[in-house]
Amino acid sequence: MKLTPLIRKSLLSLCVLSHLGCSANSLTAASTAKPQMRSNTLASAEIRPVAPVVNVASPEIAATMPEFLSELRNQPAVIGGIASVALNSRSATSPKVLYEQRRVLVLREGQQWWAFVGIALSTKAGTHRLVDQDTGETYNFTVQAKNYPAQRITVKNQRHVNPNPEDLQRIQQETQQIQAALATPWRATEVSPLPLEKPVAGGFSSPFGLQRFFNGQPRKPHSGLDISAPQGAEIHAPTDGIVVNTGDYFFNGNTVFLDHGQSVVTMFCHLDQILVKEGQRVSKGQVIGLVGKTGRATGPHLHWSVSLNKSLVDPKLVLRE
Ligand SMILES: [Zn+2]
Repeated sequence: MKLTPLIRKSLLSLCVLSHLGCSANSLTAASTAKPQMRSNTLASAEIRPVAPVVNVASPEIAATMPEFLSELRNQPAVIGGIASVALNSRSATSPKVLYEQRRVLVLREGQQWWAFVGIALSTKAGTHRLVDQDTGETYNFTVQAKNYPAQRITVKNQRHVNPNPEDLQRIQQETQQIQAALATPWRATEVSPLPLEKPVAGGFSSPFGLQRFFNGQPRKPHSGLDISAPQGAEIHAPTDGIVVNTGDYFFNGNTVFLDHGQSVVTMFCHLDQILVKEGQRVSKGQVIGLVGKTGRATGPHLHWSVSLNKSLVDPKLVLRE
C-alpha cells in the first residue's frame, strides 16, 4: 500500500469505503426527490418501522442545546461540516426548518433557536438557504470550500476498484438501503442527539474527507472517521438511539445504523459481530457490536459515519472525547 506522506504516519489500518462518498453524492438529489420518506418506503428496504419515542400528541419537544455545541457556532460552514444558523423564531416548540426539503436539527439556547445543518461533501460552495416551514422565513448561509488531503491506496483485489457486473448489482441495491437508513423519518427528541461519545477506544487512523485514489483511479472521498481498535473490541452506542438497519454489505461489511433522533444517524462498519437487532432501542454506552474487518477493510478498525439531515459530516465536529 502506498500512501501520501501526509497521512502515512497516522494510518494503521483503513477501510476503503469509496462507495459511501458515492452515496453521499447522490443523497442531495435523493432528498430533493423524496423529501418525505415514510416507513412504508423503508419497509421495502427491509427496515422495520419503529415506534416514536415521544408522545404523538406533543411531538415538538424543545431540546436544549448542550454547552458543547457552542463551539460549533464558531466553526466555519465548510463542505463536510455543519452550518449553525440563528433563527428568528420565538416559537415555544421546535421550529420546522428545512434544508433542501429535508428537516434539520434545531436546538434551543435560552429563548434562541439554532439550526445545525449537515453539509455533504458533494455540496457546492456558495449561498445556501434554510426555510422555516411555520413562518415561511428564509435564512441564507454561506458554505465554504475545503481542501481535504489526498490518499493513494493500492489494493490487490481489482473487484474492490472495479467491481464486476454482479457486484455492481449488489452495490446498487445496498446503496438504496443505506440511503433509506440515513433518511429515517424525522423523530423528535426530548434531549439533544448531540454531542456523541467516542464509540470505541482507540486512536484515529483515516480522517474524514480524504480524497481517494485506488490504484491511481479517483474514487469518492472518505465519508467517515476510522478508529483503530483490535478485533473483537466492544463498540458502544455514542448516545441513545434506535437501531434502524443492520446488514452485511459488499463494501461496509457487517454494519449497524442508529437513529438518534432529529435526523441524526450514525453508521458503524466492518463489524466482526452485530449484537443488536433492527427496531431495538439502545442506551448511550450500550454495546452494539464488535470491531472486525468484514467488507472492504485492510485490517480491524471501526469506520464510523455521522449523518445530519442525510448528509455525512466529519464525526469529530460532534465528538466529545
Ligand atoms: Zn473508513
